[in-house]
Amino acid sequence: MTHRNVLIAGAGIAGPALAHWLGRRHGMQATLVERAPAPREGGQTVDLRGAGRDVARKMGLDAPSGPTPPAKKVSASSTQ
Ligand SMILES: Cc1cc2nc3c(=O)[nH]c(=O)nc-3n(C[C@H](O)[C@H](O)[C@H](O)COP(=O)(O)OP(=O)(O)OC[C@H]3O[C@@H](n4cnc5c(N)ncnc54)[C@H](O)[C@@H]3O)c2cc1C
Repeated sequence: MTHRNVLIAGAGIAGPALAHWLGRRHGMQATLVERAPAPREGGQTVDLRGAGRDVARKMGLDAPSGPTPPAKKVSASSTQ
């Protein structure tokens, strides 16, 4: 493959994970675009288990075992 640049639409959980693996495994340069101006504030606990947990571990994102720390409020800024 000669083209090393890819455009990924969507910065949910799949888009950044794809960008990570295309870069790490295949040396590709990913540009990630997201149509939403900011993260959604609503939602539930992230349910990470099974294959998802294996992938997070391989990405170095696995949480240490032990008691769950209290949730932190996340804020975001927009470049628009
Ligand atoms: C009602 C509901 C409740 C859920 N509850 C839970 C839960 O409690 N815990 C849990 O772990 N999972 C939950 N899930 C599942 C979880 O939300 C999905 O598995 C996960 O979000 C899928 O991630 P994704 O990256 O594939 O897609 P998404 O999270 O949908 O991300 C896709 C992104 O792409 C963007 N996008 C789309 N089109 C374009 C475009 N043309 N250009 C640029 N950006 C674009 C969207 O704005 C979005 O940000 C729930 C799902 C639903 C529907």
